Amino acid sequence: HKASEKDEEPPVGDSPVEISSAGDASVEDLEEALNFGQIEMAYQPKVRCHTGTIVGFEALARWHHSRLGFVPPDIFIPLAEAHGLIDRLTLQVSEKALDWLAEMSSDATAKRVGQHVLQDMLLSLNISARSLGNNALFDAILQCCREHGINPERIVLELTESSAMQDATTSLDTLTRLRLQGFQLSIDDFGTGYSSMVQLVRLPFTEIKVDKRFVMTAPTSEESRAVIRSVVELGRSLGLSTTAEGVEDQETLGYLDELECDLAQGYLISRPLAPDAVLDWFAAREAQ
Ligand code: C2E
Ligand code: CA
Ligand code: CA
Ligand code: CA
Repeated sequence: HKASEKDEEPPVGDSPVEISSAGDASVEDLEEALNFGQIEMAYQPKVRCHTGTIVGFEALARWHHSRLGFVPPDIFIPLAEAHGLIDRLTLQVSEKALDWLAEMSSDATAKRVGQHVLQDMLLSLNISARSLGNNALFDAILQCCREHGINPERIVLELTESSAMQDATTSLDTLTRLRLQGFQLSIDDFGTGYSSMVQLVRLPFTEIKVDKRFVMTAPTSEESRAVIRSVVELGRSLGLSTTAEGVEDQETLGYLDELECDLAQGYLISRPLAPDAVLDWFAAREAQ
């Protein structure tokens, strides 16, 4: 399984990595995890390429099972999708992440860190293609924003390129409604699907994310650099914010800045962090 790749991120908050039986996770295990609220969150910062300013965080689901160990999302997200559990999972993740964002944006937190910058932070949520038709899910997310006094403009919904383009007409309706409600919309993993520019222009996206497979190989591959260059140019010409994910070294960050790519995410900046580790990371970074 992919889970055993050596560059797989270590599970947040525990070591050594114990993922050998993750592939044995069953739908019953996952259902139990959802029933008992055992899916946890990690947050990965997103910064401006040029200035290093922190602009927000991406919420990533984490599952530590008592018997199976760390089960990576690349295993349990497809499992949830295949068994009709993805909307429940997305709602749980969204509620946890919005609770966390509200706490991070609170006056109490501002007082603790001595500044208010966290009050404008963006939060990115990953949305499965299968959820696009489920209006009730998005109504619940919107309701959750309202309960926490969070402007939906601060929430970025990330959809993979292929999912957004599969049925461009249905997508157009749903995405337009979400955009009108204020949500920002991001095309994740761009460069891996088959979308045409014509489709892209029709859909109301606000951000385009260059897939990490190109970003991670930028230092050694001219082809990867060519893809990054053209995606950044495409994003700019469409007036979208451009983000590169999987930035692992300074050289790549410099290259992205030269191209005027807007935002960067990756291990160079920070691995995904446990919720209660974010403030310390933030304070250490601001002190630099
Ligand atoms: P993604 O949305 O493309 O998320 C980025 C993935 O790249 C994350 O893996 C992150 O930990 C990893 N990553 C970030 N920076 C670097 C880097 O510099 N180098 C390397 N090698 N990797 C980096 P993760 O957390 O294992 O998630 C994998 C995928 O699972 C995500 O890919 C996303 O498609 C899916 N996923 C995770 N959480 C959720 C969720 O709550 N809902 C849904 N629908 N999908 C999720
Ligand atoms: Ca994502
Ligand atoms: Ca991605
Ligand atoms: Ca991915």
